Amino acid sequence: MKKLCLGIESTAHTFSVGILDFNGNVYSLINDIFVPDKGGLHPALVREQHLNNFMKIINRALLEANISIKDINLMAFSQSPGLGSVLKIGAMVARMLSQLLNIPIVGVNHCVAHIEIGRLLCHIEDPLVLYVSGGNTIVSAYESSRYQIFGETLDLAIGNMIDSFARDAGLQHPGGPKIEKMALESNKDYLPLPYVVKGMNLSFSGLYTAAKYLLQSEEYDKKYNLGDIAYSLQETAFGMLTEVTERALAHTEKKEVLLTGGVAANKRLQSMIEYISKEHDARFEVVPLRYAGDNGAMIGWTGILRYQAEGGHEISETIIKPKERMDQITIPWRS
Ligand code: AMP
Ligand code: MG
Repeated sequence: MKKLCLGIESTAHTFSVGILDFNGNVYSLINDIFVPDKGGLHPALVREQHLNNFMKIINRALLEANISIKDINLMAFSQSPGLGSVLKIGAMVARMLSQLLNIPIVGVNHCVAHIEIGRLLCHIEDPLVLYVSGGNTIVSAYESSRYQIFGETLDLAIGNMIDSFARDAGLQHPGGPKIEKMALESNKDYLPLPYVVKGMNLSFSGLYTAAKYLLQSEEYDKKYNLGDIAYSLQETAFGMLTEVTERALAHTEKKEVLLTGGVAANKRLQSMIEYISKEHDARFEVVPLRYAGDNGAMIGWTGILRYQAEGGHEISETIIKPKERMDQITIPWRS
């Protein structure tokens, strides 16, 4: 029987369980996603949903993989970064199963996991990565034993910014796909919006506020419509992301570019990043969408990599780290 790892993702809206073997074959992946009725993610409500559902999700993953919990050889869980009260659920479940089954446990940095599942599934070695999601906006690459951060948001994450604007415009969560569709179907009349790149970092809060003002203006639905704002918002935000990614690419001279995170689904962003990749003779890859958003398979795979490099964690080392940055930890499997 192959060695199997059960990976648990629990940093924010998604409680997800992935089961895979030590060669990276995924046997099952089950997600349970919290969707707010209105407003943003309320940690207490997310925590309640995850607490109510975790056993159901684990059982469905075992059923899909056609195995019993006793067949699992390694537990991996998202240890950082994320919402503290939500991270605790995954950590608690993983600790419990590790002790109950007497198997090793490994804590995983969520951002590193997004990169590792991309390297595995896209068959690439050493990419420059643009990770864009509801909670993160990071340009990263491996240098000097770590996943260094070359650029990041100074305030809102790109996905959160788009979702917040969409909510203001009366669109249901998640707004990203709806804004993309509206932008595509619009007249493509660009409305000037604040484009804020500071050094290698990005700021989206001014852009968000300006787009919101456009919704409230007397000229709204007379001189321009929601589609025009959606188009302008995307062009501005994605232009900023592309500028920083290109500069990091020129600096690191990586020959591969990986786009991941939920916002990687956006075709306009894909085309912009693909364009600059080509300009720099780099291969461009988008993580398959099932694995681009938050998922337990990426946690399981990264847990396997760390376990094989340096063994499991002691239970006392499995404390959650809500604010841990990916550039704070070593990556022994790549050195
Ligand atoms: P994640 O946080 O990685 O699970 O991804 C969720 C985020 O991706 C949300 O902010 C979504 O609005 C966003 N998203 C999903 N599809 C798209 C899309 N086609 N265009 C822009 N954003 C998207
Ligand atoms: Mg994520």
